[in-house]
Amino acid sequence: MKNPFETPERAAFRDSVERFVKREIAPHGEDWDEAGDFPWELHEKAGALGLFGFGIDEAYGGLGFDDAFMRLESGIALAYGAPGGVNASLGARNIMTGPIAALASDAIKAEVLPGIVSGREGGALAMTEPSGGSDLSRLTASARRDGDTFILDGEKTFITGGMKARWFVVGARTGGEGFGGISLFLVEAGTPGFTRTALDRKMGWWSSDTASLHFDAVQVPAHRQLGEEGVCLLAIMNNFNYERLALAAGCLGMARRCFDDAVAWAKQRETFGKPLISHQVIRHKIADMSARIDALHAYLLHIAWTLNEGEIPAAELAKVKFTASQTAEYCASQAMQILGGAGYLRGQAVERIYREVKVMAIGGGSEEIMKDLAFRQMSL
Ligand SMILES: Cc1cc2nc3c(=O)[nH]c(=O)nc-3n(C[C@H](O)[C@H](O)[C@H](O)COP(=O)(O)OP(=O)(O)OC[C@H]3O[C@@H](n4cnc5c(N)ncnc54)[C@H](O)[C@@H]3O)c2cc1C
Repeated sequence: MKNPFETPERAAFRDSVERFVKREIAPHGEDWDEAGDFPWELHEKAGALGLFGFGIDEAYGGLGFDDAFMRLESGIALAYGAPGGVNASLGARNIMTGPIAALASDAIKAEVLPGIVSGREGGALAMTEPSGGSDLSRLTASARRDGDTFILDGEKTFITGGMKARWFVVGARTGGEGFGGISLFLVEAGTPGFTRTALDRKMGWWSSDTASLHFDAVQVPAHRQLGEEGVCLLAIMNNFNYERLALAAGCLGMARRCFDDAVAWAKQRETFGKPLISHQVIRHKIADMSARIDALHAYLLHIAWTLNEGEIPAAELAKVKFTASQTAEYCASQAMQILGGAGYLRGQAVERIYREVKVMAIGGGSEEIMKDLAFRQMSL
């Protein structure tokens, strides 16, 4: 469909991301995923393209501007051509630079952001704990003030990028109950008492490094507290909004990839003496996928426009997050069915995406939590 928000700059940016994915990732992606890792230089190449610089000042290596359409299109292109694990590890830093840009002192920004935005160093956001991720208002990691430091204790889990990152934005309780008692801290890997364990037996996202983090009386300098106690809520909620946009864009890229691979297969495969694509049942599957993909794209474009207008459409971001994961799940299932037995073999995108869709329905705000949030935002 024609995109009414297209500009020459956005088209050029999208083309450069698509070319990057085709050249640097697609030829190796499935092998990297099987191997469970990919070369660090890809982070730096993605950084050079500007993929980590949205909303970050040029003084800290960022783009010096934000554009939700560019975020959207780059998210779609990456998910179309890159395994979810590669995408997740690259993008992990994008969910932790927001709170730093919003809350950190200039000195911290100058120390931390250039390395992360350029891709030379990794960053991760550590909120989820073994006791749960949906209700962050009950997180239990604690940070106790002791002179010029905070003493951090607790556990985090499912942290994307967590095995390789140098910098972590960690949520910990400094005060009473609820979000008001939570603060954010910037913690550096290698600080005594901070250890990490790989979670490497995942259903999907094999090439991403996912970690459990352990904080045992870790001393965090007081100037590495991001903002003041209790400001966590606003910074993190705003951050989650952009994470939801990115995850929904990823779902659209995955759905499109499933669609294209299914159509290509249906054109060349013959059953009952004619191409698979000429059977009406298969055509209906393709039409159903296409309609859902178009609807999701139109929804996302409208949300991107609203974000660019300076508004945060929280209800729509929640709704589009679960609409997107359901669309990706539907398209992965239909594409797998069209590919038949060939779809069940490893080393190709449809099988991988079929495994990867579930995390899109769980991570960054699960479908249940998004529906509840959307309902509450509607003030019915
Ligand atoms: C591969 C992967 C990468 C991740 N990366 C990160 C990361 O980088 N940083 C980070 O902080 N976290 C990360 N997460 C954690 C993710 O955000 C959480 O898994 C998610 O928030 C859900 O939390 P939970 O798994 O503890 O489920 P729970 O909170 O225990 O919930 C379990 C199930 O119950 C449902 N549920 C919960 N409460 C309700 C309710 N009131 N009504 C109805 N249903 C409910 C949930 O939707 C979910 O389906 C990652 C997770 C995965 C799997």
